[in-house]
Amino acid sequence: AVGLAEWLKRRAARAPHKPALTCDGVTWNYGELMDRVERLSTVLAEGGVAAGMRVGYLGFNDPMLLVALFATARIGAIFVPLNFRLTGHELAFIIEDAGIHTLMVGESHLAVIDEVRSGLHCARYLHRAGGAEGWESTDALMAAAIGKPLPAAVPARADDTALIMYTSGTTGHPKGAMLTHGNFWANNLNEIFLWDLASTDVKLNFAPMFHVGGLLCGTLTTLMAGGHLVLQRAFEPQAVFDAIAQYRVSVTFGVPAMLLFMSQHPSFEGADLSSLRSIAVGGAPMPEPLLRLYASRNIPVHQGYGMTETASMITFLHPDRTIDKLGSAGTPPILTEIKLLGANDEEITAAGATGEICVRGANVMAGYWNRPDATRAVFTDDGWFRSGDVGYRDAEGFLYICDRLKDMVISGGENVYPAEVESVLYDHPDVAEVAVIGAPDERWGERVVAVVAPKPGKSVTLEDLHAFASDKLARYKLPKELRIVEALPRNPTGKVLKAKLREHNVPAAT
Ligand code: AMP
Ligand code: MG
Repeated sequence: AVGLAEWLKRRAARAPHKPALTCDGVTWNYGELMDRVERLSTVLAEGGVAAGMRVGYLGFNDPMLLVALFATARIGAIFVPLNFRLTGHELAFIIEDAGIHTLMVGESHLAVIDEVRSGLHCARYLHRAGGAEGWESTDALMAAAIGKPLPAAVPARADDTALIMYTSGTTGHPKGAMLTHGNFWANNLNEIFLWDLASTDVKLNFAPMFHVGGLLCGTLTTLMAGGHLVLQRAFEPQAVFDAIAQYRVSVTFGVPAMLLFMSQHPSFEGADLSSLRSIAVGGAPMPEPLLRLYASRNIPVHQGYGMTETASMITFLHPDRTIDKLGSAGTPPILTEIKLLGANDEEITAAGATGEICVRGANVMAGYWNRPDATRAVFTDDGWFRSGDVGYRDAEGFLYICDRLKDMVISGGENVYPAEVESVLYDHPDVAEVAVIGAPDERWGERVVAVVAPKPGKSVTLEDLHAFASDKLARYKLPKELRIVEALPRNPTGKVLKAKLREHNVPAAT
């Protein structure tokens, strides 16, 4: 494997003047991108960041996030992108769990960190403009780094961790998936092969880059292929249509909810999307009617299936099978294998038979940061990663995803672990029992539902729950619906029967 900073350097050396990325109308070529990476690596090293230490980044999509990732990798340190939808309370847990040494924060996220700053132990806080108390200016430091000698580049080995990406956990706290330089290398090759990415591609990314979808699939694969990346700070359908037409975008990536919002936008009909050769969609189940709608307009949408723990892509529907395999998540790419396991871990091979999707390959994570037990729990004895998703293969080996074993809700592409929400709501003084489930939702795919048994003589409303939990849980984790019951249905050992609760689900738009 070739480390992140090394392949970028080779790209920059080969074609320094080729456009690398455009954001807000400003374009950097590969040489300019690499120059900023080198200068920021000087700034980080001067502040004491050394190999193996963690550098955090909190902010909307921004070229500086990429500069920070590559600069961190260049000196052998580990990058930790943070979800900007989280509350200060949730961010503080992750920052402390990862032991972040230097925290970089984008324009809009200074206040949320200042709220919790007294409980943090970072050595250094960097903000573009600096100024606020205890914050240094990244811009000023980078300007001062011009002409200074560069810190030595640390050669990356395949199994060195490059990045820790936090995903919610079944136990209530998020856990950090350790992705190695080898994982990035493997996913880049996987996508370049299966998605036919090339240096002639113009890729638009509007998906958040603190997730593998936006960072790896949406961004890094195209930089490795030497293509041109157009970056948007956040998702907004009109801006997406405009950018596709203006830059003649050839490939992009979104989650199903984004493709739905695009299709419902008044400009969808008239938008010039003729330059697109592929929109990859993944991160949540893709409704077939939406696939058909895009197909009817000859807009090529290709379903992919991926996870944080697999450095994104597990399977992808190759562009030439869009129509005859509509609804399939495709086949595994070149460096990755899948198999299906039944209830007793027996291998399922018959076409149409379902099992848990298990993954093996150079793209599978090293494990969870400081969580050997959680790591052991997701690997089989012979080293296959258990996805917690259920699927079947057709006679030609195309994968269809049909269910989930893990107790997880996906709302608009963000994962919500009921255990995390339940553990917060259980602290509400009027709640005796609570279970959190997902219900089908036309807009978000699924919505979070709280089923609550109030304490005797007490009543609980959705507003009460929001007021209680909104500083502890990101907004997308807050229940959108409340159902009141006298007691939760439980099996003889006391386990809540969530399947029984889901029987009362009615699909509804919110
Ligand atoms: P994350 O690690 O946040 O990217 O979430 C990964 C999970 O998203 C997977 O384990 C699946 O449950 C779900 N997922 C991703 N892609 C698909 C897809 N194409 N169809 C259905 N579920 C998906
Ligand atoms: Mg996801």
